[in-house]
Amino acid sequence: MSYLAFTGSKTYQSRSVLDGAEFTMKKGEILSLIGPSGTGKSTLLKCLAGLEQLDSGRISLDGMDVTDVSARKRGVLLVFQQALLFPHMTVFQNAEYGLKLKKTSRELRRRKVEEMLEKTEMQHASSRYPHQLSGGEQQRAALARSLVMEPKLLLLDEPFASIDPLLRDKLRIWVKGLLKDQNITSIFVTHDMEEASLVGDELAILHDGKILQKGPAREIYMHPANETVARFYGDGLTVSGDFFASRSLELSDQGWEGTVLGETYKYGHVFYRIAVESQIITLSSGSPLNKGQTVFIRRRNEEEAVK
Ligand code: ADP
Ligand code: MG
Repeated sequence: MSYLAFTGSKTYQSRSVLDGAEFTMKKGEILSLIGPSGTGKSTLLKCLAGLEQLDSGRISLDGMDVTDVSARKRGVLLVFQQALLFPHMTVFQNAEYGLKLKKTSRELRRRKVEEMLEKTEMQHASSRYPHQLSGGEQQRAALARSLVMEPKLLLLDEPFASIDPLLRDKLRIWVKGLLKDQNITSIFVTHDMEEASLVGDELAILHDGKILQKGPAREIYMHPANETVARFYGDGLTVSGDFFASRSLELSDQGWEGTVLGETYKYGHVFYRIAVESQIITLSSGSPLNKGQTVFIRRRNEEEAVK
């Protein structure tokens, strides 16, 4: 039996947001939930946390049906995009708060909080107030506050969205290490594919109220379940109604006509951004290309279109 099994539908004012979305998770798994903005990722997390009720569906967690269990008793914690720390409490007091509610003894609280502040590299800021913290520190304090509670499931809703890109990159690797170290089953919401692949053991793609595919990033990339996943995950091209992922395409001396828009650099290589039929794809080239140059693109022989 799965550690977590979710199936659910949710409508807001006659607008269907979740429409029989279904997935399961193993204990200790980190799942990156991705999908375009407004697609219902936060709604799904709120339903899991018990902050919103499903119209229909079922959630089982750690061998228990928690569909109708209150948010307080579910053992599911949600860390939001903004850290939502109590402003009048220090980092230590914030981290200690949940344990106090659980009537944990003062001594045990101190031990647990100190240990977690060390793990989240926040011990230096233990007696600071939220307004005295950087964005990254606020998120780490929020994580510490959740992790001391040893949740059955931890939900992270775009936690690094408002943090600058360099630091964000470090935090991605760091948070994955921390969650693995603590063996915390977690769902990490992001709309960034790279972030999703870095943090998650697996990715789940939410689209039109359904989980279209769940699996390791590589599997989703190499074997997209359908055209929407292929389009959403990778860059590619639709020609005469057929979609081809970029890896299916190469520059050639004939084929579909495109115009070179410019260069882009990734992983130590030069790629070219090419406009084809009012779409933009990114391809590598054996020889340098110039901006504005006309090129031709064909599909590699062995690759079929994704239907
Ligand atoms: P995401 O997190 O993927 O960006 P959300 O789950 O926040 O998407 O929102 C999904 C859709 O549900 C959006 O269209 C949003 O406007 C709508 N929505 C979210 N919360 C509410 C609410 N409390 N009342 C009405 N509509 C809502
Ligand atoms: Mg959201």
